[in-house]
Amino acid sequence: MGSNDKILVAGAGGFIGGALVALLRKQGRRDLRAVDAKPFEEWYQRFEDVENLCLDLNLKENCETAADGAVEIYNLAANMGGMGFIEQNKALCMLSVLINTHLLQAALKHGIAKRFFYASSACVYNGDKQKTFEAPSLKEADAYPALAEDGYGWEKLFSERMCRHFMEDFGLTTRVARFHNVYGPWGTWFGGREKAPAAICRKVIEAKVSGKNEIEIWGSGVQTRSFMFIDDCTDGIQRIMKSEILEPINLGSSEAVTINQLVDITEDIAGIKLKRKYDLSAPKGVNGRNSDNTLIQKYLHWEPSTPLRVGLEKTYRWIYDQYMARERGEDGVVRESGIAR
Ligand code: NAD
Repeated sequence: MGSNDKILVAGAGGFIGGALVALLRKQGRRDLRAVDAKPFEEWYQRFEDVENLCLDLNLKENCETAADGAVEIYNLAANMGGMGFIEQNKALCMLSVLINTHLLQAALKHGIAKRFFYASSACVYNGDKQKTFEAPSLKEADAYPALAEDGYGWEKLFSERMCRHFMEDFGLTTRVARFHNVYGPWGTWFGGREKAPAAICRKVIEAKVSGKNEIEIWGSGVQTRSFMFIDDCTDGIQRIMKSEILEPINLGSSEAVTINQLVDITEDIAGIKLKRKYDLSAPKGVNGRNSDNTLIQKYLHWEPSTPLRVGLEKTYRWIYDQYMARERGEDGVVRESGIAR
């Protein structure tokens, strides 16, 4: 892949897509096409020197426009959110299958794409292997026999296989990473699609600013997860895209914490201690999940390594500034996407 090749980032108005475009620009890549269905004013990051297109990639003809001339294609577009969103919008999540299918077809049609990246998720893993609270480390083989997260996870698993068969049958070089919870600045932090780290930062800030000194936690607080900082995610995407790794591979942090520990760290950053209320009826996902990084270490001698405390501090500060800007009624506050609801 040459440094002047055209790169398509699909889902560029979103959290990870926006961060990837920002990184590619920083690296001096100039021929960038950024595509998202959201109106431009809702993109988390947007750059004037990039070709920005507002297109619904569920539609095949829009995927053809987006992929035209692109040598590298990164598909980060999906209708998604935290557990609160995916548990209640299974059909919408599954409809993202149209985006990946049409993008793969468009990549083949133009015959120019040398590499195609698909963003899968740890939600493909078999639910039975995530019943304990002791953060079971999920290795790639644990996706089968399949019992993925209903809706969202099944679409990811299906699209992974679609990538594999486009490679085997049609010779398109595809790469697939299974992201484990990604967090960081320039992502959704309120409105219903936000994930646990952003939601907890916001709730701690709310409690601090309002003086209410109380926080509501979804579930019992002893569920375990790992959280990957956004810089590790975009770094990993590029490493995997360039690699010769043929199978879907974990891209996640292996630093597992309970949700209570996530709250402890956030409180510590905020310099506050809150009374905790647990909502056991709220969407909470699987009991335990961690990323087994044996395979990525074997292939790349690398794994995401930003300590949670370090990444969360940056995230907290950014959300704090956003929160205060929203309180002042300023424009440019990052919020949820309203598309396809
Ligand atoms: P995001 O919601 O911030 O970004 C996704 C973007 O896709 C949004 O801007 C949305 O507008 C866009 N989109 C949705 N439907 C579209 C359509 N029909 N046409 C064009 N654009 C469309 O989410 P994100 O966190 O940046 O996630 C990026 C990818 O990574 C997704 O595939 C997601 O499933 C995957 N992933 C994310 C995480 C995470 O923790 N953030 C974890 C696992 C997997």
